[in-house]
Amino acid sequence: MAANWRTLDDMSGKAATGAAVKADGYGLGAAEVVETLYKAGCRDFYVAHWQEVAPLIPFLGDAKLSVLHGVSPLDVGNPYLLHPNVKPVLNSLPQVQRWLELGGSICDIMIDTGMNRLGLSMGDITAEIIRNLDIDVCMSHLASADQDSPQNGAQLADFRVAKSNIAARRYSLSNSAGIVLGADYAFDLTRPGLALYGGIPRTELNDRIRQVATPETMVLQTRDIRAGDKVGYNATFTADRDMRIAICTLGYADGYLRSFAENGRLQHQEQYIPILGRISMDLLCTNISHVTEVDESSWLTCIYDLPRLSAGTGLSQYELLTNLGTRFDRNWY
Ligand SMILES: *Cc1c(COP(=O)(O)O)cnc(C)c1O
Repeated sequence: MAANWRTLDDMSGKAATGAAVKADGYGLGAAEVVETLYKAGCRDFYVAHWQEVAPLIPFLGDAKLSVLHGVSPLDVGNPYLLHPNVKPVLNSLPQVQRWLELGGSICDIMIDTGMNRLGLSMGDITAEIIRNLDIDVCMSHLASADQDSPQNGAQLADFRVAKSNIAARRYSLSNSAGIVLGADYAFDLTRPGLALYGGIPRTELNDRIRQVATPETMVLQTRDIRAGDKVGYNATFTADRDMRIAICTLGYADGYLRSFAENGRLQHQEQYIPILGRISMDLLCTNISHVTEVDESSWLTCIYDLPRLSAGTGLSQYELLTNLGTRFDRNWY
C-alpha cells in the first residue's frame, strides 16, 4: 500500500498526495492505513462521516483529516468538530452558514462541477458568504475519470472557473483515476483512494499498482465424498467422481458473495482450488482432490485480483474491497 501511495505521489508530480480512508480504509482498516501512509509521507486524509474520525485521531500527527459530508444539523455538537487536525468539507451554502455560526475556522470546500452529487453548485461560487471562510482546500470530484470521457475536460474547465472565484490555500480535483489524466488535473493536491488499496480504475495503472488485500481462509474440516454425492445448499453440485473436499471458514457474511462461486478460486502453494456448490453464510466447500498438503487448519488463499473479479462478478472493485467483512483478522505485513 505504501508503494502504491508513492507511485501515485510520483504520478501527481508537484502536487501533494492525500488518501481517501473513508469506509474504514475501503474495508481494510482505516487506522492501519493512516498509520502506514503517514509514515510514507501522506498528510491529507479523507473520511465521509464524523463517526469515522475518533479512531484516527491518535495516528494523525501533524496531518489533517477532512470530513467529506460537511456539517449537517446532526453534527452540531460533535466533539471533533473544532479539533485542530480535523476540518469539514463544506458542500452547500447552508453548511457554510452553519460552520460560520459554530465559530469554525479552517475548512475545505467542495464544488460540484457536473456530477450533481455533493458540493456548491457553480452558481453559488460568487456568494458573498464564501469570502468569510478560511479555506484550506477547494476541491471538486471527477465523475468519469476512469473513462476517456469529454466530461473530464468539462469538469476541469468548470473547476478552473471556480478556482478563479474562490480563494483557498490549495486546489484539488483528482481521485485515483484522475491522477492518470495528467498534470492539468493535479493542481496542488490529489486524493486517491481505490488505487492505494490495489484497485485499478484505468489500464494505465496495470503494471504500476500492486495488490494489497489478499483474503485467506482456514480449512475447518476435510471429507471424502463419492461419485454421486451432493454438496451444499440445494445440492447444486453433484460429484462426478470420488473426491476429497475442504470446508473453509468463509462465506457471504464475510463479503465472499454467492455470486463469486463461479468466478472465485482459491489457491494453495500455486495449486488452484475450485469452489463447489453454493457459498453459505459462513462456509464454503472446495475441491482439494488434486492438492497436496491441505488438511484441517491449513490456510487457503483467495484469488482476489480486483479487476478480474470485478469483470466476472459485476461488482465494482470498490464493492469488492468495502464488502470485506469484519470477521477477518487484518494482518499487515
Ligand atoms: C472517495 C473519494 C475520493 C477517492 O476516489 P477513488 O476513486 O477511490 O480514488 C476522492 N475524493 C472524494 C471527494 C471522494 O469521495
